[in-house]
Amino acid sequence: MTFIQYVLLLKVHVAMDSEVADHCQSFALSDPDNGLFQRKCNHDHVKICCECYKLNEVLADIEIACSKLVSEEEREDTMCMFQQAKDDVMAWKAHQLRSVNQDQAKFDVLDILNRDSALLVMDWAMKYLPRKFRESQCDLFAKRGIPWHITVVLTRPDQSGPLEKQTIVHVFQSCPQDSVAVTAILRDVLATLKEQRPELEKVYCKQDNAGCYHCGSTIVGSTPASGELGVKVERFDLSDPQGGKGEADRQAATIKGHIGIYLNEGHDVNSPAQMKEAIESNGGIPGVSVKYVKIPELSSNNPMIKWDGISTLNNFQFHPRGVQAWKAYKIGPGKLFPWSDIQCDSSSPCPLEVLESPVQTQRSRFRVVRARQDQTSTGSKGLSSSCQHSESIEDEEAMAQESGIFSCPEESCIKTFQRSSALQAHLDEGRHKYALEKETLLDKAKRGYAAKITGERIQVPTSSLTWCSGPTSDGMGTENSQEENHVFTGTKEIPY
Ligand SMILES: [Zn+2]
Ligand SMILES: [Zn+2]
Ligand SMILES: [Zn+2]
Repeated sequence: MTFIQYVLLLKVHVAMDSEVADHCQSFALSDPDNGLFQRKCNHDHVKICCECYKLNEVLADIEIACSKLVSEEEREDTMCMFQQAKDDVMAWKAHQLRSVNQDQAKFDVLDILNRDSALLVMDWAMKYLPRKFRESQCDLFAKRGIPWHITVVLTRPDQSGPLEKQTIVHVFQSCPQDSVAVTAILRDVLATLKEQRPELEKVYCKQDNAGCYHCGSTIVGSTPASGELGVKVERFDLSDPQGGKGEADRQAATIKGHIGIYLNEGHDVNSPAQMKEAIESNGGIPGVSVKYVKIPELSSNNPMIKWDGISTLNNFQFHPRGVQAWKAYKIGPGKLFPWSDIQCDSSSPCPLEVLESPVQTQRSRFRVVRARQDQTSTGSKGLSSSCQHSESIEDEEAMAQESGIFSCPEESCIKTFQRSSALQAHLDEGRHKYALEKETLLDKAKRGYAAKITGERIQVPTSSLTWCSGPTSDGMGTENSQEENHVFTGTKEIPY
């Protein structure tokens, strides 16, 4: 088993309560020194996982081997290298555990989303490098990227209905990607949403761990904005680096593709205004609206809010009394920081200056993300998601869906779908179904082919195999089933 396989295995195995210490989220994510960030296990960690045990054993073996090196210099170098590698392995393992736990925050929000609430996934996309239809060599030099920010809004008009999605893009001429910009964008998004859907009362924010989100100024700064707009920010959940912002990344890719079409039609995209025009070209992208905005000059005077130890906190819930914070989602009661401690004279974020507002069409509003076919299956899931029985039904569903042609690109997720829209809906929700072995279409074909051949062989023992080329065809005796297995799982011997 490779390390990658092991990590995927770990993702399948981890649980909030597990009798294997390596798999127990409560145990691994609790802070041993602070009761506020601890979740007590009501079980003993008596079981041992074979794979996790093996990993520790391998590491111990390598350590022993390193320590036996004769030359002292070589031994020290190797030991140092080994220690570094071991720390990386452990950090990667802990990252997997944390990201599984932090993803749960999103799923819990998706479950309770209603007409009056929405989930916002915010992210700075990679700066867009201006491009011309015809580009000379000198154009490639001294390019300055156009900063753009993506907010994906997920909501549900009624609790049992399908999810709806809308993407709001902010394009800037130049903009520091800091908390001032982020709070201003958040304010603008809330105002836009409230205008579209007056019954909206609360939003949940999910961001990755970037510094502009993970700081006191952003977290505290987002609250006064919400008060005056009549929309309240309920929670702020930060995901581990490289996790939990898939929606924003996927939208960025779609938008870049759309801009590519515009370029190929003979246009240039050199400025934020042209970029906006490109996104809105050809009738725009369904569910996407774009604004060309500017941060007002004055806003840089806002005082920075100091919050000691914020880098270890990842989940924040806003209360009238203060902010309750956790190190890991749902691990422990959390610590309440009263407003008086964290709020220096926080002024509201400046509203963004809109230079070009979006071309409003019906297409850029909320869109249903779930495909028709998928509705029935997830409806039943919602009713009894906690009971064990439904899990088996779900498994059967997954089996039934096997014939689908769109398989989820997430590593180790076994879900496949009949329609691309159903796959999109699955990716937006992010509830991947991990299993150890993911069967590709090629594997399936091989298995089917092997089964067919074996079936034929029973009737006609040798003739069906005579055209099986390569050296192995001689070795294929009628009884040698192992040999036969080898032929059909390998790739080169199969004469398609
Ligand atoms: Zn435990
Ligand atoms: Zn394990
Ligand atoms: Zn998936």
